This record gives sequence, C-alpha cells and structure tokens, in this order.
Amino acid sequence: MLSVTNLNASIGPIPIIRGATLSVNDGEMCGLIGRNGAGKTTLFRALMGAVPATGKAELEHVDLLALPPHRRIAHGVGYMPEDRRLVPEFTVEENIRLPTWSVAVDRAEDRLKWIFSIMPEVERFRVRRALELSGGQQKMVALARALMAGTRILFLDEPFEGLAPALARRLGEVLANLKSEGVSVLIAESNEVHVLDLLARAYFIERGTVSDKRKSA
Ligand code: ATP
Repeated sequence: MLSVTNLNASIGPIPIIRGATLSVNDGEMCGLIGRNGAGKTTLFRALMGAVPATGKAELEHVDLLALPPHRRIAHGVGYMPEDRRLVPEFTVEENIRLPTWSVAVDRAEDRLKWIFSIMPEVERFRVRRALELSGGQQKMVALARALMAGTRILFLDEPFEGLAPALARRLGEVLANLKSEGVSVLIAESNEVHVLDLLARAYFIERGTVSDKRKSA
C-alpha cells in the first residue's frame, strides 16, 4: 500500500537519508527502529514534504513526493511529529480538527466521533487549551490529530518517547486497538521494547540507511 523506493533526502548540502526502500501493507503496523540521529524524523519529514527528497513514495498508486505537502495530507496521510507541534492556545478539539481546516477530510464529523470513541480520555479534555495539558496528554492529542487526516496511513514519530509508564501502557492499548480497525501505521522508535508486541514487522535505520535486518548489535 505504501511503497517507498530509493528515497534520498538532504538537509542543506548534507545527505541524510540514503536510498531508503520500505513498504507498509494495508492495515499493517510496521516499525522503523533506529537510535537517535539515525534519520527517522528526517525520513518522515521527507515523506511529508518538509524536507526535499528524491525517489518514490507511492501510496495507493500516487507518488507522495510529487505532491505539495497539503495534498499529501489530503491523500490520507496522518503525521504525529516527535515534538507534537500542537497549537498551545487552541483547544484540544481545535487542534484535532486542524487538518480539516486546510484539506477536505471525508466525513470529518464521523471521524472525530470515532477518534473520541477510541480515545475517550481525549474527548474528556476536548475544551481545554493544549497548553494546559501534560506533555503525555499532548502526545495523545497529537495522535488524535494524526488520525483525523490519516485515513490511509499514519506516521508516528517516537510516540512513546517521554511518556510516564501508565500513559505508555494506555497508548499501547490505543495502538493495539487501531490494528483491529485496519489502519496502516509506520512507527519510529529508538527503543523497540515499547512496540515489539504491536509490530507485524520492522525496518532498521542506521546512519540514514534502511534495512529489514539489524546491522549492528
Ligand atoms: P532523533 O530521535 O534524535 O530525532 P532521528 O533518528 O529522528 O533521531 P534525525 O532527527 O532524522 O534522526 O537526524 C538524522 C541526522 O540528521 C542526524 O545526524 C542529525 O544530526 C542530522 N540533522 C537533523 N536535522 C538537522 C539540521 N537541521 N541540520 C543539520 N543536520 C541535521
């Protein structure tokens, strides 16, 4: 369903991602495991159009790399950045609805209801401003926002990073439920312990190179 082929991405003059090839099947939860600085964020940012890239990234026969960033979101890609990027002054609900302000999301009201049904804790603080939430709660909201646009696939960048154990367990439950909903997900993690139970498969990234086998211990 998502098929990335020979993707190269640079930051300024520095090549960061080198010939990345990977795929995520329909409804599959797939890992992208690599230590800090390996290139996970840069790969996601390249797929979202925030970093220039060459190669191909076909999602349902459309090459994401050929689309401007907002059209990638409109094509059903949801992105949860590692640093959340919520608008602090907006309410939780406004943050979740944000993608629908710039692109048409199919049956957005039903989708919001569905998101609240799988994350009732997020519904409970829907009227609070994002800045009033803890970092961990903000991560849940960032996942909810990714789900709003991510009708085809979600890119989750270190969703467990910095979460207290109780919230990490809860996030694990939410992601496990997503599996039964048939959502395709690519999850980047530096510590695969958090995600091993969730993943169908994993890729490993080291110094910008992606492989389906771990290269070093
Ligand atoms: P982390 O979890 O620490 O963010 P990561 O696997 O997501 O790790 P990236 O953030 O993609 O890694 O970084 C990959 C490489 O690109 C690193 O060597 C990093 O130093 C470099 N890099 C990232 N951003 C920039 C930048 N703005 N300018 C120069 N180099 C950068």
